[in-house]
Amino acid sequence: MTAVAASIEAVQCRIAAAAEAAGRDPSEVRLLLAVKRVEAARIREAFAAGATLIGQNRAQELVATEPDLVDIPHESHFIGHLQSNKVNQVMRWADCVQSVDSTKLAHRLDRAAEARERDLDVFIQVNTSGEETKAGVTPESAGELAAVVGSLEHLHLRGFMTIGAHSADLDEVRASYTRLTQVAAAVVDSGASGTGEAGELSMGMSGDLEIAIAAGATMVRVGTGVFGARAL
Ligand SMILES: *Cc1c(COP(=O)(O)O)cnc(C)c1O
Repeated sequence: MTAVAASIEAVQCRIAAAAEAAGRDPSEVRLLLAVKRVEAARIREAFAAGATLIGQNRAQELVATEPDLVDIPHESHFIGHLQSNKVNQVMRWADCVQSVDSTKLAHRLDRAAEARERDLDVFIQVNTSGEETKAGVTPESAGELAAVVGSLEHLHLRGFMTIGAHSADLDEVRASYTRLTQVAAAVVDSGASGTGEAGELSMGMSGDLEIAIAAGATMVRVGTGVFGARAL
């Protein structure tokens, strides 16, 4: 077994234990591998070990690695801040963009999805911690953006994404995840067109996935927990 395969297995065990502790079915939580600064050869090892879902946070890296992965079926999500001028590069490869945080970006993605003749799954990124350095819409404005995204023909709103509070205080981390669960529930309950299937909650990383799963995560994004520390 490769080291990557062993690490994936260990992370899957953490996911299963956290789900069971929360009284949830482990199959409700998918593992997305955050593959930034990981070479294509190691991503291929992860696929060989059964991984099917990866996320890149920079357009440049997405464009550099995907051509080496086209022969292996997988799902590719964009999880970083997306600048307008990078939309076309990302749309060449992405199955889902998890970082939609403005109506302007949503409209651009919709036009690009029409142009590529393949609809795009999207998540809305919400800044649930209030930290200034973090991207995402405020929890208060998430509903408004969800209604816009839901109205666009070539985008399919699947859920919400957040990066948890950067804090040693576990209550603060937990609150940042619970907030996303509440935002998503409010949107799904709103009955706004195109928002009924927005139940995915992408939250939790290597260090805090247990807290996110307890708060309702359906997708955790793990990088260092599988591939080891990244070089700066
Ligand atoms: C890198 C990254 C992760 C994974 O973080 P780790 O701490 O390495 O598990 C998750 N989400 C986003 C948006 C990232 O850029």
